[in-house]
Amino acid sequence: MVTVLDHDSELRRRAWDAAASVVDPEIPVLTIADLGVLRDVVLDGDQVEVAITPTYSGCPAMNMIALEIEVALERAGFREPKVRTVLSPAWTTDWMSEEGRRKLHAYGIAPPQSSRSRRALFGEQAVTCPQCGSGNTEVLSEFGSTSCKALWRCKTCREPFDYFKCH
Ligand SMILES: [Zn+2]
Repeated sequence: MVTVLDHDSELRRRAWDAAASVVDPEIPVLTIADLGVLRDVVLDGDQVEVAITPTYSGCPAMNMIALEIEVALERAGFREPKVRTVLSPAWTTDWMSEEGRRKLHAYGIAPPQSSRSRRALFGEQAVTCPQCGSGNTEVLSEFGSTSCKALWRCKTCREPFDYFKCH
């Protein structure tokens, strides 16, 4: 027997999957679910509302992400989907999934250091080179190709790399 509840949870899962397929335009290997930007999907009847938290306030990619979510939901059959921006609590890199960190590393960008790690507690930064794995790295510029990235260089393999620094 199919109950109303089953129908709703199935619908919500479909809406979540559609929203979760949207990628970060700056780092296309990461979905907004990987980033932890996708916070909630709420269904009211057939009306869907998605809550997102920007990686940092004023992130220009967020307008694009909101638009892409609406398009993805409409494609999944939802009419007039709404996207709500939630600013509090603020996004932190701790919300990025392990899967997201792996993808970022495979893409050649050093994943963010966990703020819970001991090093972060002492204000130290030890960024590992995504190319050779060396910890012997230095920052070249706090301003990389986008506002969420800093430009680093590995002293071992001498390759420059991006470090995901938004928090
Ligand atoms: Zn290296």
